[in-house]
Amino acid sequence: MRPIQLLIRTLPCFVAAAPFFAASVAWAEPTPPTAATATAADTAIATWDLTDLYANLAAWEASYARTRAAADKLAVYKGTLGKGPAAMLKALVAISDLNREVARLYTYASLASDLDLRVSANLERNQQAQALLTHLNESTSWVAPEILHVGAKKVSAFLAADKTLRERFDYFLNNTLRGAPHTLGAEAEGILASTGSLLAQPDTLHSQLANAELPVPTVTLSDGKQVKLSQPTFQKYRQSAVRADRKLVFDEYWGAWKKFEGTAGSMLTTQIMGDHFTAQSRKFGTALQAAQFPDNMPDTVYRTLVAEANAALPTLHRYLRLRKRLLGITDDLRYYDNYPPMFQLANEPHFSVAESERITLEALQPLGEDYLGLLRKGFGSRWMSVYPQEGKKLGAYMNGSAYDVHPYLLLNHNGDYDSMSTFAHEWGHAVHTQLAARAQPFEKANYSTFIAESASIGNEMLLNDYMVEHAANREEKLYYLGEGLESIRTTYFRQVMFAEFELAIHEELEQGRPLSGERMTAMYCGLLRKYYGEAEGVMKIDPEYCTEWAVVPHFYYNFYVYQYATSIAGAAGFTDAVIKEGAPARARFLTLLSAGGSDYPYELYKRAGVDMATPGPYRALAARMNHLLDEIEALEAQK
Ligand SMILES: [Zn+2]
Repeated sequence: MRPIQLLIRTLPCFVAAAPFFAASVAWAEPTPPTAATATAADTAIATWDLTDLYANLAAWEASYARTRAAADKLAVYKGTLGKGPAAMLKALVAISDLNREVARLYTYASLASDLDLRVSANLERNQQAQALLTHLNESTSWVAPEILHVGAKKVSAFLAADKTLRERFDYFLNNTLRGAPHTLGAEAEGILASTGSLLAQPDTLHSQLANAELPVPTVTLSDGKQVKLSQPTFQKYRQSAVRADRKLVFDEYWGAWKKFEGTAGSMLTTQIMGDHFTAQSRKFGTALQAAQFPDNMPDTVYRTLVAEANAALPTLHRYLRLRKRLLGITDDLRYYDNYPPMFQLANEPHFSVAESERITLEALQPLGEDYLGLLRKGFGSRWMSVYPQEGKKLGAYMNGSAYDVHPYLLLNHNGDYDSMSTFAHEWGHAVHTQLAARAQPFEKANYSTFIAESASIGNEMLLNDYMVEHAANREEKLYYLGEGLESIRTTYFRQVMFAEFELAIHEELEQGRPLSGERMTAMYCGLLRKYYGEAEGVMKIDPEYCTEWAVVPHFYYNFYVYQYATSIAGAAGFTDAVIKEGAPARARFLTLLSAGGSDYPYELYKRAGVDMATPGPYRALAARMNHLLDEIEALEAQK
């Protein structure tokens, strides 16, 4: 769960609802790892230190009470914004300071809760923090309408007259003015702001079902071992080299979800209705337009992404055919054949946390000393909860919402390569957060998802290149090339497919067609067939597995995955440039990261030399994939 972003998501038009709130930087990742082995040396750094946020619970509660009381008093600034630059600055600073504290309160509550989701006192505190954020949004819902009332001419004059106002609030003010056609009157804004917690509930419901309450079957594998198919064990055993076992876990796991198809469909429909409600209320044509508005993202970016991913499907199919050959499958390739690694190592590599740190530092050398220094600083501190434990939130994320403190990272490190890759990924977010916080005031530090995932996936690419290059032998080289390929399948093609699905279900609702779990399954089947090349004879899609949509949390994140896929292409563009050009490309990349949220992401990218509305970056990614395939085929030919 990315709690704070989750609230922002339900208030997509932040120009009106959540003014300059740098609290949305918690990046959740889709793949939860499995069991762990900790060494004594690792244990010292295994837990984060929440006392950096608040010394104890009493301190949290005191701040909560103080912040709530202060939020109630914000009404005194109502009607003062147009009185002059100093008055405007005073009001905006007061609001901003409270946002900053709420973000810190929320960070503490959500981190504590994620360590053990079974503790209801923590969940309640988390809800309490969520409610405070909603309350603050309500208490400041008059701000945007009042700025619009002051008007562009006067605001420009204020900005010209006051340096601090300009340095901290120019982006916010100009962006608010841009939102004029989608900003309602003070009363309506107040009502919309109060829908925040309510519209966040479908995601909470889904998370509860998917992570905790779904009754999961126990299966007996071919070696007699009995396995309870929770999300992590499913993800482990679907990789089995024994085809019958991966078919078994697929059949049973998706069978369990199939029983909840209707429930899952209703939950997701409620989410889509919420997106639609907010978009309609704000006079957007579609939920996608509403979701793109805060980033001022040109429509062409989405269209280019989908068109280019579809154009690159032959490259995905080339990979799948190679996979079929290497796995020795003689009949049809099936969806469960995606997961076993193509290349097995006799000794599965194991990376302790200390080794993950060392290798990540080595692999990220191309990013330069400044970058590495920030990474070392983090490694030397207690910012991570690193190992899996009972009741702990699955997956991985970085939460950078506490601007005055430091980033926090939740991992479930189990020592495999995927864990190390996730480690490098999340630390990419953490360094991004540090760079932005160092260069930007609080009001401009919060960066867009479009840029965030470039910062993290770029690290995964550099790590993979490093592992290929430093492989001890041919087998290892093939193993890492295979991992690199699979990561492009899952982070690009799979995410663009998700994006297409998300748009399709929104369009169903927008065009007045009924949505249900069954209908979603049928739509998802169609996409799986297209992406995995059923018509081309690449893979046979069994309808039983088309309930996969039901488990994906990202459909509750309001067009999050499409931004994710876009920034993967951005990552490929930058990584290639850094490798080929060196220092100048590195400088452009670090400038992009340091810019935080000081401008629109499309503009920031363009300034850094990457135009996301053109095919260039997407083709860089396809080229990267083809290059990995070439290398594997060359090594295979040597055999
Ligand atoms: Zn990420």
